Amino acid sequence: MYAQVVVDISNDAVDRVFDYLALPTTQIGMRVLVPFAGRNVLGYVLGLSETSNFDPSKIKSIKKNLETIPRLKPEILDLCKFLSGRFFLRMSDCIKLALPSCVRLDNAREQIEYVCSLAMDLDSAINIIGKRAKSQLGAVAHLSEQGEVKLADLVSLFGRVAVNTLADKGIIIKTPLRRLRSPSVEINKEPKKTLTKSQQAAVDAMQGKNETFLLQGVTGSGKTEVYMTIIENALNQGKTAIMLVPEISLTPQMMSRFNSRFPNKVAVLHSGLSEGERFDEWDRIFTGQARVVLGARSAIFAPVENVGAIIIDEEHDSSYVSENNPRFITHDVAEFRARHNKCPLILGSATPSIDSFKRAKDGQYKLITLPERINGLEMPKIEIIDMINELLDGNSSPYSKKLIAKLDECVKNKKQAILFINRRGYASFVVCRECGYRAKCNDCEVSLVYHKEDNELKCHFCGKRYKMLTNCPNCHSANIRYGALGTERVVNDLKKLFPNVAIFRMDNDTTRGKDGHKKILEEFSHTTPSILVGTQMIAKGHDYPDVTFVGILDADVSLYNSDYKSNERTFQLVTQVAGRAGRAHNDGYVVLQTYAPKHYVYRFASNYDYLGFYDKEINLRQTTGFPPYSHILRILVSSVSENRAIETTKKIFDNAKKLKEKYGKQIIFLQAMPSPVKRIQTKYRYQILTRYTPNESITADFYSIADIIEKDVSIFVELNPNNLR
Ligand code: ADP
Ligand code: ZN
Ligand code: ZN
Repeated sequence: MYAQVVVDISNDAVDRVFDYLALPTTQIGMRVLVPFAGRNVLGYVLGLSETSNFDPSKIKSIKKNLETIPRLKPEILDLCKFLSGRFFLRMSDCIKLALPSCVRLDNAREQIEYVCSLAMDLDSAINIIGKRAKSQLGAVAHLSEQGEVKLADLVSLFGRVAVNTLADKGIIIKTPLRRLRSPSVEINKEPKKTLTKSQQAAVDAMQGKNETFLLQGVTGSGKTEVYMTIIENALNQGKTAIMLVPEISLTPQMMSRFNSRFPNKVAVLHSGLSEGERFDEWDRIFTGQARVVLGARSAIFAPVENVGAIIIDEEHDSSYVSENNPRFITHDVAEFRARHNKCPLILGSATPSIDSFKRAKDGQYKLITLPERINGLEMPKIEIIDMINELLDGNSSPYSKKLIAKLDECVKNKKQAILFINRRGYASFVVCRECGYRAKCNDCEVSLVYHKEDNELKCHFCGKRYKMLTNCPNCHSANIRYGALGTERVVNDLKKLFPNVAIFRMDNDTTRGKDGHKKILEEFSHTTPSILVGTQMIAKGHDYPDVTFVGILDADVSLYNSDYKSNERTFQLVTQVAGRAGRAHNDGYVVLQTYAPKHYVYRFASNYDYLGFYDKEINLRQTTGFPPYSHILRILVSSVSENRAIETTKKIFDNAKKLKEKYGKQIIFLQAMPSPVKRIQTKYRYQILTRYTPNESITADFYSIADIIEKDVSIFVELNPNNLR
């Protein structure tokens, strides 16, 4: 038998299958050790065959099978093949997506724990031990009382010598037990709810169908209950389910809801797990002990079989498009698995992406709506405050009078408020008022952000820290101006305005470390009155009944992010943040501060008019020729040497121009230029940007002209990127 093997080396030159002589026990999907270029490397068996096209005398044999049960199940192997074709990825990189490194490289193992028990009755044991060995006597007495005791506990109580002696004499037996490292979850028992008519109708429409659905339901309309019912029905038919959420909405609340509904059946996969936890969660899925997978983007690769439902919650979220290599789009992977398993794929959101909604309109997805909040609750009123008027009225602070008044009312009523500002730190930049000097990172072409708590300037691109300026390094003036406010400054100001109110901050700085989010949210949820200040991580998934007021301090930040998705993103953000208010009573209120009060994004968002927004936006995309009416493709070339970056960009651009000739008007736009952020982590970044009528062969051609190897240069192709920096 010959085995077709892909080696675990990220290099285009070896991105193909090699034939090896299979061992008698080699199976498709196994990890194996094979001799390759003079050493033994990890490989994956993609196929087995009776014959080979290569000279049999030159074919080497697999050294070793690394497992007895193949880790790559047939569906996952097919998925990897699909991925590699769809996203122009190397097969070995696709396998890396499917097998977390702890599994792939065996660098986390199952944790074994021993328990001890008596091998005989207590009297016989005492007889053997004799009267003098006090510790040994103590240990056997303890064991006879307890039945079974963990080895570690027994050792700490009676000492290692005594325990070893007992084991050597055969008085006690040590039994190995697998200990599962599971991420801790608190489970608040939730009674199962009777679905409303529209929830039930949604379940009936989607349950068991081999189709893709777009479930549009306003925040608080009970989408999660719909998901859980569909999952429960799937489990009752002996099937499994995958539920994806954006990383930051994997809140303790969400985990608790799932664990309470499906005790012992849920495995969680997200970036906050330790290697050991990830290994055990993955293994619980692999062996079929866990049948519901709840996780962020990469959980779509979970090795569940016989899948009965796949759900992507907050489907519009940008985290579903991975920004790093290997780059993939979660929706496409999910679609593949859903069709493979003949099960429904459900994309849920209050504010679907323009792309998904268009597909629903075109009939590619089936649209299901939940137009109302549970219990007939109204959506909170959103009031738009014109910050220019505030200025003209003599209020130059970043907080409008209405915002302060509403906050005041909220805390007087012993309720909770959420303030949203999508910027962390104290001030977005520092400049000298005299000479205009601006503090920048040495390694990146960006302004440094002032963090007052640490009295430091930090680079938000590479993490480098610098001492805060006291004087301008250029002209020595002490007259320093601060840029736009961030979360730290808001907390600082609020403490002065509301000295007796608990104020919490949630952003990338305060949530570092394991369970960082959890601690802040837990404390916030138990404290009234209180105010939570945070970046977009507060926008999702939280359901706190006492939050009655939401303030959006500066929505324009994302509006003027100059890319074609900024309208869409701002609409989604405002709707999501506003949706945190008034989830239990009709007293939700939202203040939205802006310098562009008439912008259609705000007009539609404040009326919760998704359809109005969609119509306007899709028209704009069509007339200007932006996605979904076109594809945007970027070839990013980066190098520590600016010259090398420019040269390589030119080289690729010459070929790009030939494509322009080949495809003519189908290519709407093609240009080479420095990236918006010209340097990150000491690397210069140049780009070729193109826009064309969607066409697979144009995409393939651009990928292929970018597929060159240049020393000290990295080349990265992105199709419809979320973020062009
Ligand atoms: P969404 O996911 O659309 O934001 P959720 O499923 O979280 O909405 O539901 C919002 C709130 O309403 C939650 O507190 C949930 O427990 C509650 N809820 C959902 N469905 C029902 C129902 N059928 N009966 C009573 N309460 C419900
Ligand atoms: Zn100066
Ligand atoms: Zn930097």
